[in-house]
Amino acid sequence: MKRNPNMTLLQDGYLFPEITRRKNAFLSNNPEANIISLGIGDTTRALPTCIAEALADSANALADSSKYTGYGPEQGIGALRNKIAEVIYKHSVDANEVFVADGAKCDLGRLQMLFGSDVSIAVQDPTYPVYVEGSIIQGVSKIVRLPCNSDNHFFPDLDSAERTDLIYFCSPNNPTGAVASREQLQALVSFAKKNKSIILFDAAYASYIQDPDLPKSIYEIEGAKEVAIEIGSFSKLAGFTGVRLSWTIVPKALKFDDGTSVHADWNRLMTTLFNGASNIAQHGGLAVLEKNGWQAIQEMNAYYLENAAILHRALRELNIQVYGGHNAPYLWARFPGRKSWDIFQYLLEEFHIVATPGSGFGDNGEEFMRFSAFANRENILEATERLKLCCGAELL
Ligand code: PLP
Repeated sequence: MKRNPNMTLLQDGYLFPEITRRKNAFLSNNPEANIISLGIGDTTRALPTCIAEALADSANALADSSKYTGYGPEQGIGALRNKIAEVIYKHSVDANEVFVADGAKCDLGRLQMLFGSDVSIAVQDPTYPVYVEGSIIQGVSKIVRLPCNSDNHFFPDLDSAERTDLIYFCSPNNPTGAVASREQLQALVSFAKKNKSIILFDAAYASYIQDPDLPKSIYEIEGAKEVAIEIGSFSKLAGFTGVRLSWTIVPKALKFDDGTSVHADWNRLMTTLFNGASNIAQHGGLAVLEKNGWQAIQEMNAYYLENAAILHRALRELNIQVYGGHNAPYLWARFPGRKSWDIFQYLLEEFHIVATPGSGFGDNGEEFMRFSAFANRENILEATERLKLCCGAELL
């Protein structure tokens, strides 16, 4: 059996395993070091009790033969699809356009399968690596990187951008923390319409948008339903990174070139390859969208945003250029003239802080580090104290 040749095209050492390898190497020589991780974007806060109870009730129901349930609808429990349409989208999408799944990352992989290998794709650079690597696994060879840097306010120059079949777009962005404005998303939708492209809009961090002028969904833009699929997740919305629950919106108005329905094909693919998200997770998701759960997760999101604000202030006080961190849980800090893996090593060795090297997200990430606000407050405060010990000049 020959190895899948697409696998050979992947770069060695996906970003996070390399971070873990370096961290472990450091720890093996410095076992006493108390490392603070502001690297991987994983949630740390305990779930609100009302949500954990809903998960537990759903699990306990499985032990009761009168309440036991097996497979559910592949598209998700009807009540949850309705609630997502109501609470997240204020009915701007139909419940039957909502497909519940077991994680945004899993759905990104399945979407790549939906479109196949004979497509060209565009990604923001820097980018969440899954868009590129998942496409390569699928056999996609034409990948256009759209530079996003401080010169263009981390929004691609669409006037000079090449046409592609698919455009991956993430806002609030991982890793830059940039949030696209309404005008920017309008331009993106017009660009996709003009080029007959489909936008895969990753809204995994939408709940961090507090500014009412910033769009939380691509469907706030007129005409977006004809050109965009949106992926949402309970992971960062509600601390469900381990519980696993997400959704994808595939509008009925979205058509392939030959006029056939993307929604129908997605439904076909999901009913073939997916057997529905865990019923326990879905009941947890319903609790998130109920009044008490919703209130509790607003507090959780506000907590992480306060972490971001504390980190932002600390980095600014060291005269470090820092972007993001407002309406987003990631900060994107620039160290002109320095390689981001060198900064990684320096922060690890001198301050016992782990952040993510920007170059791992693409060439435009060189000189940058991504700091994640997903941490406990004590760790954020401790990290800022440690950073204050350095005069900043060493970092610059
Ligand atoms: N999309 C982006 C931009 C992410 O950063 C992440 C996780 O870090 C995901 C999707 C994956 O989310 P999920 O936990 O729902 O698979």
